[in-house]
Amino acid sequence: MTAIPGRTFKKVKELSPAEWIAPGSPLCAGCGGLEGLRIAEKVLGENVIYVNAAGCLTLLSVFPFSPLRGSWLYTTMSAPAAASQGIRDALDVRMGKHGLPKSEDLQVVVVAGDGSTCDIGLSANSAAIHRGLDFIYFCYDNGGYGNTGFQWSPSSPYGSSTQTTPSVAAHPAGSEMKPKDLFEIWRAHDPVYLATVSPREPIDLSNKFAKAKALKGPRLFICMAACPTGWGFDPKDTNVVARLAVETGIFPLKEYAEGKVVHTKMPRKRLPVEKFLETQKRFRHLFAPERRDDIIAEIQKDVDSYWRLYE
Ligand code: SF4
Repeated sequence: MTAIPGRTFKKVKELSPAEWIAPGSPLCAGCGGLEGLRIAEKVLGENVIYVNAAGCLTLLSVFPFSPLRGSWLYTTMSAPAAASQGIRDALDVRMGKHGLPKSEDLQVVVVAGDGSTCDIGLSANSAAIHRGLDFIYFCYDNGGYGNTGFQWSPSSPYGSSTQTTPSVAAHPAGSEMKPKDLFEIWRAHDPVYLATVSPREPIDLSNKFAKAKALKGPRLFICMAACPTGWGFDPKDTNVVARLAVETGIFPLKEYAEGKVVHTKMPRKRLPVEKFLETQKRFRHLFAPERRDDIIAEIQKDVDSYWRLYE
């Protein structure tokens, strides 16, 4: 097994000043998923082929225009893992039998939202990870089907309002289901590397991508994609919302490698979850017209139970 490298970056100024995504894409201003990908690209460089499952970030590259320096292949929501396998095989055959130099090898990187990852593409992703496909998977998780108007996905938080789970008299919480734990689903496959990242923590994110870049096999990322449009906050506040997700303990920053889960940033003193909830319209029904302490307490209970395992 390739050794997992340690910390590579200590300061933001050590990150590459090069930009691999040109400005002016049609994505929403303040999109946390795009910011996460932008920082990851500084580590991955340009020898990358992106395999994009239909979703918000599909709008990045609309034929014949692309703001990316790497190549971009668009697939259905269910097919990025299968497409990645085909590309990986083609590269390996060309390098093995047809003299393609190693310097022209490409990292195959899936870019997919939580709807594709946790829902429509879950079984194909599971099979690809299980058979050890050599690829990177970047899931930008905004907790909803964002590019079709923000419908519920299996990643939508309990207590959030979406287009298909509004808060109504019969269902005051909005979404009443607890989200799938994608980290644990993926961890059960024992991938070579797995991590959660947030664009608000660029050093943590960059070091995790540097580790993944040096490895072979399934390397999987869940990126906290603070989403001004779907979550209902001002795009200038993306960093504030993303920071509160980590400081309230709602979004743990962690990695899994060689059989161990390590938290890469422990919130020193966790803030109450409502500090995060009150920043977004999707949770507005928890505070007005009357405060729903019962639902807020349920969200706090889940976060506390998680951290009790580690603190
Ligand atoms: S809807 Fe949200 S995730 Fe999708 S592009 Fe807009 S801000 Fe990004």
